Amino acid sequence: MKALVYLGPGRHALEDRPVPVITAADDAIVRILHTTLCGTDLHILKGDVPGCSPGRILGHEGVGRVEAIGASVGLFSVGDHVLISCVSACGHCAACRLQMYSHCTSGGWILGNRIDGTQAEYVRIPHADLSLYAVPKGVSEETLVLLSDILPTALECGVLNGRVQPGSTVAIIGAGPVGLAALLTAQLFSPLDIIVVDLDDGRLARAREFGATSTVNSADGMAAGTILKRTGGRGVDTAIEAVGLPATFELCEQIVAAGGFIANIGVHGVKVDLHLEKLWDRNITMTTRLVDTSSTTMLLNMLGAQKLQPESLITHRFRFDDILAAYEAFAHAAQSHALKILVST
Ligand SMILES: [Zn+2]
Ligand SMILES: [Zn+2]
Repeated sequence: MKALVYLGPGRHALEDRPVPVITAADDAIVRILHTTLCGTDLHILKGDVPGCSPGRILGHEGVGRVEAIGASVGLFSVGDHVLISCVSACGHCAACRLQMYSHCTSGGWILGNRIDGTQAEYVRIPHADLSLYAVPKGVSEETLVLLSDILPTALECGVLNGRVQPGSTVAIIGAGPVGLAALLTAQLFSPLDIIVVDLDDGRLARAREFGATSTVNSADGMAAGTILKRTGGRGVDTAIEAVGLPATFELCEQIVAAGGFIANIGVHGVKVDLHLEKLWDRNITMTTRLVDTSSTTMLLNMLGAQKLQPESLITHRFRFDDILAAYEAFAHAAQSHALKILVST
């Protein structure tokens, strides 16, 4: 089969690999129909994710058809169409019993990281019963790839951890795919104001289409002042960090209101200053989280009921044979205006 393989920092290739086989009783083998690229894949290519060794097939998002199941898989049969979760979960370790599947002792985010992933024609999914979801009737399988990772990530790490509430004020720093997914899922809670901050006017225009009540281009370094002015000097109840850089996290520290929440989503590669000299008496809460995908069933139901319309996050489509071109477009999003790229076999 063809697979997109990480070969070490800065190097990746489309290679021929053997089709994976069942190695544990709770495995399933899934033939990939649609997969997508993630900012995290670019982090791996830069060498930022040391757990991912050269030779690894990348990808942790996808939709496919079950081709084979191990003896103990109870919820799925050969031929079923399934959504693949970016997080694998055994269901009975201490973390799983807390629904903290991201820290499952034999799962978590392993796909396309510590085991071979979904940017291939076939993938082995461990703990299949808890790591796959049946595709609901009437739901577009293309749109479903957005539920493997970015929608649950944005909802759980950003919106739920940030306690977005009816009538509250929210700032989302970063209008990439995850920031825009936070914008979509924040609206499930009817906040009064959602301010989106980015450096790219094209992405800010998309944010307004997706429901941002105002946007701020932070290129002039004045974003904190602009947001404080807009909120009457109070700041925002929830500041969601969806970039993963020191400057964007520090912006959250500058704009969070007394009693507010800073909810981090971004993958941080370097240290960030925590300004306790300014925050010690502000009654704020700061949260970090790796997505647990504990909201995936709810999001599937919302999608099925058309209460969530994320399909326009998919901006580009490629055939699997052209996945290297898909990586080019994704890595140069400022020029290509790519958000999520659908790659179909
Ligand atoms: Zn991802
Ligand atoms: Zn577990």
